[in-house]
Amino acid sequence: MTSYFRPNVDIMAGYVPGEQPKPGSNIIKLNTNENPYPPSPEAIAVLQNLDSEWLRRYPDPYANEFRQAISEVLEVPPDWIIVGNGSDDVLNVIVRSCAESGRKVVYPMPTYVLYRTLTEIQPAQTIEIPYGADYRLPIDDLAAANGAVTFIASPNSPSGHVVPIDDLRHLAAKLSGVLVIDEAYVDFANETALPLVKEFENVIISRTLSKGYSLAGLRLGFGIAHPTLLSGLFKVKDSYNIDAIACAVGAAAMRDQAYKNACAEKVKISRSKLTIDLKQLGFQVEESQTNFLLAQPPATGEAKNSAEQIYLALKQRGILVRYFKQPGLADKLRITIGTEEQNQMLLEALLSLV
Ligand SMILES: *Cc1c(COP(=O)(O)O)cnc(C)c1O
Repeated sequence: MTSYFRPNVDIMAGYVPGEQPKPGSNIIKLNTNENPYPPSPEAIAVLQNLDSEWLRRYPDPYANEFRQAISEVLEVPPDWIIVGNGSDDVLNVIVRSCAESGRKVVYPMPTYVLYRTLTEIQPAQTIEIPYGADYRLPIDDLAAANGAVTFIASPNSPSGHVVPIDDLRHLAAKLSGVLVIDEAYVDFANETALPLVKEFENVIISRTLSKGYSLAGLRLGFGIAHPTLLSGLFKVKDSYNIDAIACAVGAAAMRDQAYKNACAEKVKISRSKLTIDLKQLGFQVEESQTNFLLAQPPATGEAKNSAEQIYLALKQRGILVRYFKQPGLADKLRITIGTEEQNQMLLEALLSLV
């Protein structure tokens, strides 16, 4: 039978997001790296005072109010900023603008699975290069692969490690294509690669309000790059990819850095505590500069549960964590840092499972 779809769409797997239980259900949700704290009160106030005129009219295609707020906070000119319906939208626009059949999209593994999905949709060729020991960036192999687009998530998911800026700088200098540095978790990290956009025209940094700013439901992200690089992306993005509500709420959230930083501090303190507590239970835990931990349960022996069994048993107890049935990750769990109370409930449940 013939298919409705292009051959690459027919054979691709499609991205599988983490489970999203109904809001209000009594589930401890530690599976998709949402922030456990509410969004900024300033952002909520904007939402509550919404002028219905904003809804009648089309939104600003460039989301200038939001761009202005980003510009002030990060000290980059507004025309170096492109806004997306989540940073996934920015990543999608980059792939659609730069990749096609016969061109390559390159990234180190393991990393964010969406890079593969976007490439397969295009379709372009995926080149997946394993990280070295201790997550050393395979700079020469990445550069030799000669991608139209090269993706580096830093901090990375699911490992939680940061790629040193000097490694990214070396890579950027060797590439002729676009280097995307995905900083979705930067709000929980000690460093950023943002200075590189001023050094290299081919570097774009992507950021999101989903994690650090507790606004995953709003869908808002942005990219920062030289206007020459953004010029092609602006042709490809949907004109109205940011709705008027997101633009206004996002601007208020961005301006309230003090609140965002205070929440991130709480998460970082809980991250240290949970790391120690999990290690005490026998887990091996990767050092993380994100709001999650990649943890390997104690070696499976008699009467010990595997990572998958622990994932399923936690789910039965109403606690969701992320399990990836993939080479290199099948013996690990990715656990989002929750509130102190949520983390305690997780630990209590784990006590009977390991
Ligand atoms: C969560 C995440 C994103 C996407 O976030 P949006 O909600 O689309 O802004 C991008 N990259 C990585 C590595 C992520 O973990």
